[in-house]
This record gives sequence, structure tokens and C-alpha cells, in this order.
Amino acid sequence: MNKHAQATAYLHEMMTQWRHDFHAHPELGCEEQRTAATIAELLRGLDIEVHTGVGGTGVVGILKRGHGSRSIALRSDMDALAIVEENSFDYRSKSTGKMHACGHDGHMAMLLGAAQHLSNKGNFDGIVYFIFQPAEELGYGAKSMLADGLFKRFPADAVYGMHNMPSLPLGTLAIRPGPVMACEDHFEIIISGKGTHAALPHLGIDPILVGAEIVSALQSVVSRVLNTVDNAVISVTEFIADGTTNVLPTTVTLKGDTRSFTPAVQQQIEIAMGRIAHGICAAHGAGCNFTYSNEFISTINTRTEAAIAEEVARQIVGEERLILDCPPFMASEDFGEMLRIKPGCFLFIGNGTEDPESAGLHNPRYNFHDDNLTTGADFWVHLVESQLTAS
Ligand SMILES: [Zn+2]
Ligand SMILES: [Zn+2]
Repeated sequence: MNKHAQATAYLHEMMTQWRHDFHAHPELGCEEQRTAATIAELLRGLDIEVHTGVGGTGVVGILKRGHGSRSIALRSDMDALAIVEENSFDYRSKSTGKMHACGHDGHMAMLLGAAQHLSNKGNFDGIVYFIFQPAEELGYGAKSMLADGLFKRFPADAVYGMHNMPSLPLGTLAIRPGPVMACEDHFEIIISGKGTHAALPHLGIDPILVGAEIVSALQSVVSRVLNTVDNAVISVTEFIADGTTNVLPTTVTLKGDTRSFTPAVQQQIEIAMGRIAHGICAAHGAGCNFTYSNEFISTINTRTEAAIAEEVARQIVGEERLILDCPPFMASEDFGEMLRIKPGCFLFIGNGTEDPESAGLHNPRYNFHDDNLTTGADFWVHLVESQLTAS
């Protein structure tokens, strides 16, 4: 066992209780009232200065030691998802249709465990900001905390976040510099044709045929426009027409979602999609309205902070449980908004690959693995003590 691991083992039972309580009482994004109140009360009990209502239901705790001006921010998300839980354990959701299916219950418990240990026994000199962020799943939470002056009021030198990942072995820590989570963009293409009798298509302009061509052609963007080493995905997820069985429609609306990792690729996708949509519509004499919007920016770790997290993780889980070659994830995460302003690192803790731990994020049978609570809290504690070293 490494000398830095298991620092918070004595808090495992308490962290488990906190986690199960959060799990039983899930709240959706922007509605985390009970969750925020529970966190604020626990932090106050640790003599940590507490700020509530940051960016809505966000909570920030400040823990100071000594006279050092160095500072670090640790972030956990707080919100649950609109999912009907299918688990049967006794702490399953008490709110039908709401569920902690992304492990934010575990993220909060790990960070609270670290706060408790650092408050009681922390050996550091400087300022720790504990950030509990609402509404991650909606993509609003980080932005609303930043708009509320998060890093002006709590000016951390760097910010770190951690997310569990069911596809990685239990208790592993995965870290990489650069892009780790994709950006998410949404698009809408409204094709204006001319409705007509299904038996007399020559009298109209069939937007179904135009839409079908566009759906196929959009798949050429990733394969023929982007550099082959760039990762991206374009998914048309809705094809909506206003016709009926014997009537060709007037309008077809295509909607969908794209993911990629860098602003340059994002821009290439938007331009190519617009060109294809307008071009195919024009070829058929149909009108075209193409709109493209950014929902999540990509999460990009800074090199120095990724290296710091790697070294801390090595101390906690050892070389054999440290994953450095994990590819980036195509899902999205609004922690990227914080990394746009501050240097930092977003890392992953493996939630296990065996049933039942392997249930994926946002799955009705998902559950955060309690064995990770100590590992995650240990990581936070050692990260703080290594960055804010006491003299
Ligand atoms: Zn999620
Ligand atoms: Zn999540």
C-alpha cells in the first residue's frame, strides 16, 4: 500500500452514508435545493466558510490554512437525471422519474470526505475551494456559476474535476492531457418543398427525397472533409415531415447532434454541413434554413495540471492501476467551461467492468461503486497537500 493511499479510509462508512442519502434523494438540474442544503450543513459543521446560491443552487466551501496565497479548486457536480431507476437496493431513488444515474452522488460524497479530512487533519498551506456545481446534465451549471463570478469571488490557481467511468476497471484512475470529453453541437435543417398528391409528385417538390439525400450526404463530412486522424460524429436523430400516407409533405425538419474535440474541427463540420444542406436543397428547387448551435464546449486538460494529476494518481493507486492511454470520450461535460478560464484537469475513476457495476452512465440500472469513495477522496487530499505544500 502506498503511503498516500487510504488516508480517508476511516471516513468510508460516513462517505457511504452520504452517498446513499444523495442517491435516495435525487434532484434534477437547477432544482438541487435539498442537495445544496445538505452539503452546506456538512461543510459548516467542518468550520468551512460556505457560500450558497452561487449560480443558482451551487455551493462553494473555502478552507484556509496558514498564510499561503496559493489556491486550488476541486469541483463536484450535484444533479440527477430524469430516469426511472430500476435498481432494487434499499437506498434506491425515492423520487420516481429521478435518479442519480451518472454518479454525481458519489462525486459529492468523495469531495465531502476530502473536505472532512482536510479540515480535521489536512497538512497544507493555502486555500482550498470546494465547488459543488448544479445542472451539469443540462449544460447550464458551470456557465451559471461562472456568470455569478465563480473565479472572481473564489480565484483558484487551478481547477480539477473527477468523473466515474463504468467502462474502466474498478478503482483505476485515467488521466490524459489535451481533449478528454467532446464538444456537443446541435443542428436543425428545415427543408421547404411543395406539398402535393402522392400520386402526382411532378406537381410538387418532395422534401422527403431532399431530406433523405441530405441525411446520406452528411455522413461524407467525417469521412471526406475532416482529416482522417480527427475524431467526430454526426448523427441525424429526428426526421419530421408534415405529410400523410397519400400526401407528400411541404416541409421536412431534420435535427441532430454532432461531437468533436477541437474548435477547428467544430467549425469545419458546421461549414460543410451548411454547404451540403443548402446545395442539395438548391439542386431540387427546395428552400433551406440551416441552424447550428453549441451546447457543450470540449473539455481540454492543460498539460502541466494533467501531469500533476498523473503524479498524484500514481501515489494513490500505483502504476498498475493508472491508465494513461485511455482515448478521449465522445460524451460531453460542462467542466470544459471552467477549463476555458482556469488551467486544470478532468480525470476519470473506473467504476468497474463486471456486472452490475458495468451498467453505463445514464442507464436505469447504473450505480456508483462505493469502493471508489476512499480512492477518490484520497486523490483529492493528496492533490491538495502536494500542491499547497506546508513549509
Ligand atoms: Zn451524465
Ligand atoms: Zn456526469
